[in-house]
Amino acid sequence: MKKVLIIGANKGIGYETAKQLLQNGYYVFLGSRKLENGSAAVEKLKAEGLNNVEAIQLDVTDDESVKTARIELGKKTEVLDILINNAGISGGEHQNSLEYSVDSIKEVFETNFYGPIRVTQAFIDLMRKSSEPRIVNVSSGSDSQTVASDKTSPFYLYKATGYQSSKTDLNMYTINLAFDLWETNFKVNSVCPGFTSTNINNHQVTGTVEDAAERVIKYALIDDDGPSGKFFCEADFPNSECPW
Ligand code: NAP
Repeated sequence: MKKVLIIGANKGIGYETAKQLLQNGYYVFLGSRKLENGSAAVEKLKAEGLNNVEAIQLDVTDDESVKTARIELGKKTEVLDILINNAGISGGEHQNSLEYSVDSIKEVFETNFYGPIRVTQAFIDLMRKSSEPRIVNVSSGSDSQTVASDKTSPFYLYKATGYQSSKTDLNMYTINLAFDLWETNFKVNSVCPGFTSTNINNHQVTGTVEDAAERVIKYALIDDDGPSGKFFCEADFPNSECPW
């Protein structure tokens, strides 16, 4: 049974991704910043008859937490097949480039950019033992430099200095990571889940977690001849909604 680690899976898109992968026969390590929230999510999944799941405490901003999670996972499995770097924060609503503080930007980067790097570096040894290792970095359509600088784009007016910069940099990390793993069987991609009604946007948009998780899973299960080092944004964005 293939093993998956999903970071930030106690709720939202991460939780639904865990659910769909469990339904497809994968074993899921459900990463959660707070163990009690992860355990509650696991209980919910088990109540639905999805039993191949266990919670693992992991705060992406905390070196010790990531190191401990790696040690704990190593006691449970010798191989990790799929890593989904899904944890993310928005950094709040008002992120004007002249006013949003450097401290706030650092906080967003700590989760959205340094977090996936910290986690990837910690778990890469377990992934190297997989025959088909896959990494998905959950990104955002709003960080596309093409879209963000296109005055004709319906999303041109959406700007969030900290959030967008963190995800743009995450996409560059994806490119670098894929390059450094080029001669292996890894596939590493950034994926936008699409506007999705979750806590991160106070449920102000209409997309479903079911659709979002499908978009993420498509690249978590990509074939050996599939792409690596790319950014995919395949959601259909309603013009009236902002591209979180
Ligand atoms: P969400 O419901 O707020 O879920 C975010 C998850 O990340 C939660 O499990 C949260 O844990 C976790 N998290 C935050 N900081 C963490 C940390 N330091 N360590 C470990 N986990 C942490 O939001 P979501 O919409 O599902 O977001 C999932 C991903 O999709 C994010 O990367 C987001 O940027 C991306 N995304 C979302 C949308 C959208 O429209 N929703 C669009 C584009 C991209 P806690 O419960 O402990 O806070």
